[in-house]
Amino acid sequence: MAKLEVYQFPARSDNYGVLIHDPETGATASIDAPDADATIEALYQKGWTLTHILITHHHGDHTAGNKRLKAPTGCIIVGPRQEAGSIPAIDVEVSEGDSVAIGNSNALVIETPGHTRGHVSYLFPEDGIVLSETRCSRSAAASCSKATPR
Ligand SMILES: [Zn+2]
Repeated sequence: MAKLEVYQFPARSDNYGVLIHDPETGATASIDAPDADATIEALYQKGWTLTHILITHHHGDHTAGNKRLKAPTGCIIVGPRQEAGSIPAIDVEVSEGDSVAIGNSNALVIETPGHTRGHVSYLFPEDGIVLSETRCSRSAAASCSKATPR
């Protein structure tokens, strides 16, 4: 039974970073990579090791940390196929209906064009978590209640 932990932290002075963690396997994913320093600090504080980055779209303020986070961790970078050419160090290209395993939890990829044409969101049905950009919402928990969507 999947039960992801969600950790949100300030990044880039006006935004948030989000980590999700599967305590059973140790798998940990960053949602986008807005700020490598802030993400590394958050990982250190939690004692988690980065295994994945789930990119929602190609803009620089969401992918700036890709290479710096991948270098020491070897994490797998997942992102939308439509924008793969603009996402640094992408490993796995996904589109509507694909699934991505983070430890024992599976994310369903949903294409959510608008902010960019190739934008995707990641839905973890068993955990009740939707991750879209640096925002996240959780049906039954307060983990993300301090989010201030931009
Ligand atoms: Zn953007």
